[in-house]
Amino acid sequence: MKQRQHAGVGGAIFHATVGRKWCAGPTVEHVLRAIQKDHDEGKGALVNYLGEHCKTKEEVMHNMEAYETLIERLATFLSSSELLDPTFVPAISMKPTQFGLDVAGLSTPENYTAGNMSHIVALASRKGIPVWMDMEGSDTTDFTIGLYKRLLEVQGRLVRLVLQANLKRTPDDLRDLMQRDQATVRLVKGIYPESPGIAFMKNEEIHRAFAELIEIAFTQSSSSFGVAIGSHHSERIAEAVAFQQGDFQKDYFVVQMLRGVMKKLADQLVTQGVPIEIYEPYGPNEFPYSVRRMRESPSFILGLVRATLFEGRYTKLYEHHQPTESSQ
Ligand SMILES: Cc1cc2nc3c(=O)[nH]c(=O)nc-3n(C[C@H](O)[C@H](O)[C@H](O)COP(=O)(O)OP(=O)(O)OC[C@H]3O[C@@H](n4cnc5c(N)ncnc54)[C@H](O)[C@@H]3O)c2cc1C
Repeated sequence: MKQRQHAGVGGAIFHATVGRKWCAGPTVEHVLRAIQKDHDEGKGALVNYLGEHCKTKEEVMHNMEAYETLIERLATFLSSSELLDPTFVPAISMKPTQFGLDVAGLSTPENYTAGNMSHIVALASRKGIPVWMDMEGSDTTDFTIGLYKRLLEVQGRLVRLVLQANLKRTPDDLRDLMQRDQATVRLVKGIYPESPGIAFMKNEEIHRAFAELIEIAFTQSSSSFGVAIGSHHSERIAEAVAFQQGDFQKDYFVVQMLRGVMKKLADQLVTQGVPIEIYEPYGPNEFPYSVRRMRESPSFILGLVRATLFEGRYTKLYEHHQPTESSQ
């Protein structure tokens, strides 16, 4: 199967030389070790099994089995391991095109995908494991939000949704969700290429929109509205932390960052008592995942090199944007 073609020796070499920067490893054992390491560093984890844009039911079934195994292994891991923090529960993260939205030849791929995702969410919920619904391109936004609202009615806080700052519709989507009991969103910049009619194109515009969303989420919702910030941007993180530590505290708040990106900043936030979770992708699909990321965003490699070289500078920037005592 196409999704598995880089497993084995080639996959192991790729992981050892390149992939491990971004990915936990090819197997569920690798990701459990990564989760334990995150825990030992005072961080939570979000686990995604690699392999989106499935074109066949066979690929979708492979993902379903992988997520079922992951949930079982996470549940066993939580009950058997000697974790220092008894409240520590890793979340899983999943994308609609992993579960059938792009499968050709189906009369209603939406129904097929909704059934598959609902099954995984129900399975995880029974074990007390939260599920994040990642947001893909804008052609999937209506579907993903619609399904999230239905699952929220049943699972409450255990099911969570991503919203993207680059989309112009997002303030309306956010305000709608803020009215719903136990709704929980991760605000991100948005990584998918979109058209100017529906999305902000310039980085400054997207960051301005991102900052506005953070302000809306904190200042215009009740404390039961859950907020996560998926970002490595020191100013966005500092803004959210200032709201959380000031007059607009949420019952659920976390800063989420990608594995291998801005680790020093993540460590620094941990020492300051800010809840941090690390996005840990895993699976035999590291190579196409990495290539796709590079293709999707030509500045990705440059950003990675810059982030590694200038990590200290961003850490200082974060310090500069820390809330003062009077603003807390
Ligand atoms: C936990 C998490 C979950 C996400 N889920 C989604 C999702 O469901 N849908 C979606 O569209 N997008 C998602 N994203 C990606 C997000 O939309 C952005 O593309 C990404 O986070 C970069 O934006 P930023 O806020 O970090 O700001 P930027 O301004 O892009 O980054 C700040 C600095 O961090 C460094 N940096 C940022 N990202 C990287 C990277 N990947 N590699 C190396 N250095 C980097 C750069 O040096 C940059 O200057 C997710 C991001 C995170 C952290």
